[in-house]
Amino acid sequence: MRDYIKTNYHVHSDFCDGRGAPEEYVRAAIDCGIQSMGFSSHAPMASDPDSSWLMHMDRVEDYRNTVLGLKAKYADQIQIYLGMECDYMGVPPVNHRQEYGLEYTIGSVHSLLDKEEGRYYSIDGSVAAFAEAINNMGPKRLVKAFYEQSIDMIDAIKPDMAGHMDLCRRNNFDKAFFDWDEAWYKPLVMPYIEKLAESGTIVEMNVSKVRPGVEQYPSDDLLKECFIRKIPMTVNSDSHVPTSIDYMHDFGIQKMISVGYKSAMAIIDGKWEEIALV
Ligand SMILES: [Zn+2]
Ligand SMILES: [Zn+2]
Repeated sequence: MRDYIKTNYHVHSDFCDGRGAPEEYVRAAIDCGIQSMGFSSHAPMASDPDSSWLMHMDRVEDYRNTVLGLKAKYADQIQIYLGMECDYMGVPPVNHRQEYGLEYTIGSVHSLLDKEEGRYYSIDGSVAAFAEAINNMGPKRLVKAFYEQSIDMIDAIKPDMAGHMDLCRRNNFDKAFFDWDEAWYKPLVMPYIEKLAESGTIVEMNVSKVRPGVEQYPSDDLLKECFIRKIPMTVNSDSHVPTSIDYMHDFGIQKMISVGYKSAMAIIDGKWEEIALV
């Protein structure tokens, strides 16, 4: 096993909905001792070409050239990898890795397809949008649909890593809409955890929203289930500004150690490898 190094593979920039140019993130990463990082702009979607949060299709080439240019420019200080955060919205996606020549992908579900009504709801948007989804679908049907779509996402995208695996809690941290400690919740999540385990998908410890009273993704309870199934994990800050490049990194590492993890995953010389945490 390799020695521990500081990493972050969930990094946005002004190529999608982040603030600041990629180079500002690289400089911030070097300043705080990150040795391996990746850019994961939201992948463009043909069905939503003018979205404000996805990268526009006509910027992909510039994105590739920019990230690969930074990789070469800073090669003696930090390893930089070209990735995207790819959405699965219930319809066959492009093969992002091949289409865009990526070195890794994060698979995520931000928009939930309500198959019964044939419409989408934003899981990652405003509380009002989430409230509308809950009101129309009901908490149990929404949670079930979210994890089923997440399972389909793994099959469709085959990502290196699953993004914020329990994002359906995002607008519900105070349990205003449902209580994930009630008995019905966990059985709806477990098939997804089994899917992650059997597919060998890395799960990110996403610490972007951590603050007093607000847990990371996955929640403490699900984190334990991930450890029991030996699901590999890496700590990401889901940066949308350069200053959050190592936000709560040590907290994420300590969380992993607290449930028993002894290693995390890092890309070293182009390959996913285990790095020691203890
Ligand atoms: Zn995301
Ligand atoms: Zn993200």
